[in-house]
Amino acid sequence: MKKVMVVRVLLVLILLLVIISGFVIYRTLQLSHEIPETEQIIIDDIDLDRAAERLSQGLRYRTVSTQELSFIYRPEFDSFIAFIEESYPGIHQTFDRERVNGYTLLFKWEGNDPDLPAAMFQGHYDVVPVEPGTEENWTYPPYSGTIADGFIWGRGAIDDKSGIFSYLEAFEYLIERGYQPERTIYLALNHDEEIGGRQGARNVANLLLEREVDIGFLTDEGMPIAEEIMDGLEHPIAMIGVAEKGYVSVELEINKEGGHSSMPPRETTIGTLSMAINNLKENPMDGRFAGLLRETFAPIAPDLPFVYRMALSNLWLFGGIIEDRLGYIPHTNAALRTTTAPTMFNAGIKENVLPQTARAVVNFRIHPNDSVEEVVDYVRQTIQNDKISIRVMEGARDPSPISSSTSEPYLALKHTIHEIFPNIPVAPSMFLAATDSRHFTEVTDNLLRFRPVRARPDDQGRIHGTDERIGVENFGEMIAFYIRLIQNTTRTSEYATSG
Ligand SMILES: [Zn+2]
Repeated sequence: MKKVMVVRVLLVLILLLVIISGFVIYRTLQLSHEIPETEQIIIDDIDLDRAAERLSQGLRYRTVSTQELSFIYRPEFDSFIAFIEESYPGIHQTFDRERVNGYTLLFKWEGNDPDLPAAMFQGHYDVVPVEPGTEENWTYPPYSGTIADGFIWGRGAIDDKSGIFSYLEAFEYLIERGYQPERTIYLALNHDEEIGGRQGARNVANLLLEREVDIGFLTDEGMPIAEEIMDGLEHPIAMIGVAEKGYVSVELEINKEGGHSSMPPRETTIGTLSMAINNLKENPMDGRFAGLLRETFAPIAPDLPFVYRMALSNLWLFGGIIEDRLGYIPHTNAALRTTTAPTMFNAGIKENVLPQTARAVVNFRIHPNDSVEEVVDYVRQTIQNDKISIRVMEGARDPSPISSSTSEPYLALKHTIHEIFPNIPVAPSMFLAATDSRHFTEVTDNLLRFRPVRARPDDQGRIHGTDERIGVENFGEMIAFYIRLIQNTTRTSEYATSG
């Protein structure tokens, strides 16, 4: 009798296992691409030599933003602006131009129907400095704009001069061919993005708010077309940044009686504060494989090796494993949760004196699921020590709202990517750094952070680093992309989202 029972239970278990595996495999096989059949658009009358030469010249201007906030080398910025003026006469005849705070250029081209929400294109022409002492490491001098080996080399080649020059080339191209937009177009070339955009972008945003301009969407620098991001992933993937993380630095301080280091008390300022920091580091805020992150993975999933596909299509079973795995890699961890980075620690003045004060700063990059307030609460609860004071430092900001990935402007951008870069999956994604678009969250609901720069893993280090460069061919694709994006978003009163 007992034996029969055991056999029955075993049989039921085996049956269950078969059903579950069947279900898991079925769901895995259900995964398929949703890349639409889009007709590839080839624009073959772009004068790429001339365009590359103009970008190359643009890279020679040292429009550097340095950490001393208000200091810019004005003559260099002035000559850069003069160079743009003389290189793109069509734009300067067609657009109205105003200088915002001296150096940010805001262009406006009134459409046939001024009542339509406007389209806005934004980028920045300031660059980060070349770290002193590293100039020699460059294959070609950083401000030479050398065109060689199929690339245009120089500081700003990716971030973000190729971006603004591809806008300029695209507009000039369309103007030369008699283009007339239905929708009003704004073009902002900002001058202080690398130091927070408080002079440029912030004031452009204020102007637009003051004038009650209705902006349908704003496209800005942001995510690239990422190539070779994962083993086993054949396709590049185009990511559109629809959100930016928030930011807060928290200062922790503890004061105690000091004393001689020969008879140390059980608790010392350094010991207590170190423990608190370690607590924060070991118990990060929750991250869930859900919402935007899940949307990011959806278009990539069909191309991944079987095991990944299986896990991603059966989150009910493997969700926890995926979260652990993503949390382990710094890059994906940053997309998963609010990150914790202890950045400063100060205590002590002499090797045999117990310090009376220890001070530390922890920097958090806030996931859209959390807020500044929640981070501060979390810090308090995790430390659980009244003797440690907690102070929120200046510059804190909540994460941006998440722009819709089903809005007409988003779909038009996605459609344009398919036209110029066929068979590349497009995914909404979170931008982990910050751009000038942070100032525009009240100006428009649709902030689309994307540059059609083809980026391989080793290009990461070139942005703000040594040997920054853009492929000449890729620059041609960028120009073609913006020509189409302008057409798809401003030619008629409708956004072109397919066909
Ligand atoms: Zn940038």
